[in-house]
Amino acid sequence: MPLASFRIFSADDFESYLQSTQFSRVINVIQNHHTWKPAYTHLTAQRGEMYWLESMRRVHINDRKWSDIGQHITTFPSGNIASCRPIDLVPAGIRGANTGGICIEHFGNFDIGADVMTASHQETIIRLNAMLCKRFQLQPNKKTVVYHHWYDQRGIRFSDEKINTHQVGNEQKSCPGTAFFGGNTIDAAEANFFPLIESAMEQPSAKPTVHATKKVVKASALNVRLGPDKNEKILRVIKKDTEVQVYQERNGWSKISNTAEEWVFSSLLTDTQ
Ligand SMILES: [Zn+2]
Repeated sequence: MPLASFRIFSADDFESYLQSTQFSRVINVIQNHHTWKPAYTHLTAQRGEMYWLESMRRVHINDRKWSDIGQHITTFPSGNIASCRPIDLVPAGIRGANTGGICIEHFGNFDIGADVMTASHQETIIRLNAMLCKRFQLQPNKKTVVYHHWYDQRGIRFSDEKINTHQVGNEQKSCPGTAFFGGNTIDAAEANFFPLIESAMEQPSAKPTVHATKKVVKASALNVRLGPDKNEKILRVIKKDTEVQVYQERNGWSKISNTAEEWVFSSLLTDTQ
């Protein structure tokens, strides 16, 4: 089997990819991990996100004897999201508890006193869990969104009480970190992480709202041009009283499409009544 090809997305683009891709595995649990090492300081201009994906893969293949990188998805401090192992393959995330699982590695060390998670990283981690819950029709709770810390080395889950009263001790890693959204216990996840995911799921799309202003054409005919300049090519002509959405303004020109270069002369538009 060929090795996975890594692809790095913005959160918006990853969401589009997720929505437009069919998956054959039944997914009922989302695993959250931190990489611990590499940590934030290991990311440099020379050793960027792609370098560390390849590096993690080498360790997973050479040292752990896995067939490929263990995780399906990696998130970065920049807010970027990388697709890694194909989602249709079982991950190597929590030994003994990978069936039905999606494995996410969050790049960094989120133990108390280590990396301070960037705002973009926080936002992406919440959005990613929200978009996966939506895509696979899960409600975020202690059964569907899980931490590595909650399982022993064989993949058997500790009792809630043992996890919440810190009796897990050295039997398991702290992963995804003792400071991950307020802590790595079930209590902490229920108090902090799950409500954040739930509120992100309530957005119609997890994408940030695009600001547009509604305007009306006041000229009898208005040229729509390919750029903000009177010498640009005319794409079409719109009639008086047509409503348009203005997404951007530049030098007296208004962009009336969110996805294409479509510009009109701003002074020929008026506010809606
Ligand atoms: Zn882990």
